[in-house]
Amino acid sequence: MSLDALKARLQDIHSLNQVGGLLGWDQRVKMPSAGAPARAEHLATISKLSHQLLTSDETANLIEAAKQEIDPNDFDSDDTSLVRVAAEDYRKAAKIPTALVVEMEKTVAIANEAWVEARAKDDFSLFQSHVEKIYDLVGQQAEALGYKENIYDALIDLYESDMTTAEVKRLFDELRTGLVPIVKAIGQQADKISDAPIHQPFDVAKQREFGEMVVSKLGFDFSRGRQDESVHPFCSNFSRNDVRLTTRFDPNWLSPALFGTIHEAGHGMYEQGSPEHLDHTILAGGTSLGVHESQSRMWENIVGRGLPFWNHFYGQLQSTFPEALGNVDLDTFYRAANKSEPSLIRVEADEVTYNLHIMVRFDIEVAVLNGDLAVKDLPEAWNAKYEEYLGIRPPNNRLGVLQDIHWSLGIMGYFPTYALGNLLSVQFYELALKDHPSIPDEMAEGKFDTLLNWMREHIHQHGRKYSSPELVKRVTGGAIQTGPFLGYIRQKFGQLYDL
Ligand code: ZN
Repeated sequence: MSLDALKARLQDIHSLNQVGGLLGWDQRVKMPSAGAPARAEHLATISKLSHQLLTSDETANLIEAAKQEIDPNDFDSDDTSLVRVAAEDYRKAAKIPTALVVEMEKTVAIANEAWVEARAKDDFSLFQSHVEKIYDLVGQQAEALGYKENIYDALIDLYESDMTTAEVKRLFDELRTGLVPIVKAIGQQADKISDAPIHQPFDVAKQREFGEMVVSKLGFDFSRGRQDESVHPFCSNFSRNDVRLTTRFDPNWLSPALFGTIHEAGHGMYEQGSPEHLDHTILAGGTSLGVHESQSRMWENIVGRGLPFWNHFYGQLQSTFPEALGNVDLDTFYRAANKSEPSLIRVEADEVTYNLHIMVRFDIEVAVLNGDLAVKDLPEAWNAKYEEYLGIRPPNNRLGVLQDIHWSLGIMGYFPTYALGNLLSVQFYELALKDHPSIPDEMAEGKFDTLLNWMREHIHQHGRKYSSPELVKRVTGGAIQTGPFLGYIRQKFGQLYDL
């Protein structure tokens, strides 16, 4: 059976990719930075083997032969999905020369260390030549992949199938038009909310304990996962039973670790919810980054920054930090946790302004890839965009262009998926709420499984079987929209700020 031979081959490729992922996790969590050059070689070898296996004639022949053994009309079956997804993976991978894959892998492993150092020293010049090389390689990759209108289309498509630069622009224009008046109105009421309660000393060990308790209650299974610390928080997994979260702590600020942990656990619960029968196949895991981010942002924001959630957890938080919060009532804390104001760091931004941070990155990436902006001018372009969209200017590059890890990893085209995920998070949540209007009351009682099970049933159980547009259509009946998100923001922040 060609189908069985194809499955065996895909499993080898999948295993290699997971091993590469583990090396990457180790690099960002445990490895001494002097290990970077050797690690670059290891990762390059794994990528080379994986890419060669996937793009070989034998794989192409097996895919073609397997197509004869499946029923193409049985779109939902695992076998038909496997062949369809394998053909798509093959189609994309085969366009990129293995040599380019290897060069990219070696370049980013070194660049990542350069970024860490440049960020620590607030010195863009230490990173500049690496970014120049990476943008060059990413451009080559995009040209090899091909595109209809904009070179950036080829890159977005790697993370969000069939999404285009023009469609992202259209959605972002709509979003900005909706958000700017809200940001302005909040700005005029800025004094209404103080976030002083969450900016106090919070013991780091207790922060960790509280965060892990919270995400266990939400449904993250620590017997199939763990949490560590890293410079840039992330979630990775090597099977549905080995899901790794990372976080970072600020001893004087509660939000980054707590909401970061909930965010990454949202990704983690998606991976842990990938069905057992798809594990160790290319259909395991999440379908696209946008859908992935819909899960993390829903748990972080709609749930974790929501009043029902704090109705349940605030007493425990107060008893964990009696000195800081003993005299702060629930309403004051809830408002503090939701204070909205233009800020410099994307991952710490509030729900209203977050997407504006994404628009800065999107505009810059599109400009560099289209030859309209030189890498050496990135810091200035970044600062100017922050002034334009958020009305504030970073005082240094550490709080500006050096804050995100993505360019050092060569994943340009990735940022828009964060905003798309925000839009989807509200679309999905509202559907769950329609099916189960009791969800907020349940959350106030510490019960989160109705919501998690809805996500399991409608999203997680499908793994990678359906592309993002297919899945979104299946779940919502349509496509990604800005309306539900803007409605949610207007309602929540209208109430918080008496707008
Ligand atoms: Zn995320």
